[in-house]
Amino acid sequence: MALTKEALQSLVALQEKDSVLDSIQKEIDAVPPRIAALKADLEGERRHMDAAKAKIIELEKKKKTKELDVAAKDEAARKHTSQLNELKSNDAYKAMQAEIEKEKAAAGDIETEILVIMEEIDKARAEEKAATADFKKTEEFSKKDLEKLEAELSHAKGRHAAAKAERDAVVAPVPPELMKVYDHLRSRGKPDAIVPVVDGHCAACQINISPSMMADVTKQKALVNCDSCQRILYKREKAAQAAA
Ligand SMILES: [Zn+2]
Repeated sequence: MALTKEALQSLVALQEKDSVLDSIQKEIDAVPPRIAALKADLEGERRHMDAAKAKIIELEKKKKTKELDVAAKDEAARKHTSQLNELKSNDAYKAMQAEIEKEKAAAGDIETEILVIMEEIDKARAEEKAATADFKKTEEFSKKDLEKLEAELSHAKGRHAAAKAERDAVVAPVPPELMKVYDHLRSRGKPDAIVPVVDGHCAACQINISPSMMADVTKQKALVNCDSCQRILYKREKAAQAAA
């Protein structure tokens, strides 16, 4: 591929702009996972809070059922007590008395169970309060963080658009065939598609450049690819060399 020095230098200028564009794109790409992580954290806190609320409701239901059980036992004991005087035989009287004692004991046992449940409810309420506070705090923080990230993203997008315009402004002088090679290299994971030869070595892979190849690079009349990494080689101008 026949080339000119200007064509090669215009590609170097383009690559500088592309490199700026790449780094801004990296910033942009990094934001959505951070937003997702914040949202996942908040969801976790919300689930924790919801679970704590559900636990209270479940315990309250359990308590209500036990209270109905106590009421039923009390009612049975009351009814049987009122029937005691109607009983004629001593045996029947004693049997009924035993039944009443059993019912009262059962009611007492359930009352104890209710006390345990009430303690569990107190504990569940404390847990729910803590979980709700955690959620509120996380919600507040993540709201601020989300706003910050959205602002970061929008700022980066603005810079990206400006950098893209600058990049598009320098693309014109690059010959299409050279552009094709450059794009191909970049698509293969080599964003530094065009590299200078430094002290007789490819600046990217450090391989030694043969004298005949070096002569072609110096002439800047044809496309020279590194034998090892395939990148486009160019000769850095004296001024750029001094600056580097
Ligand atoms: Zn190389």
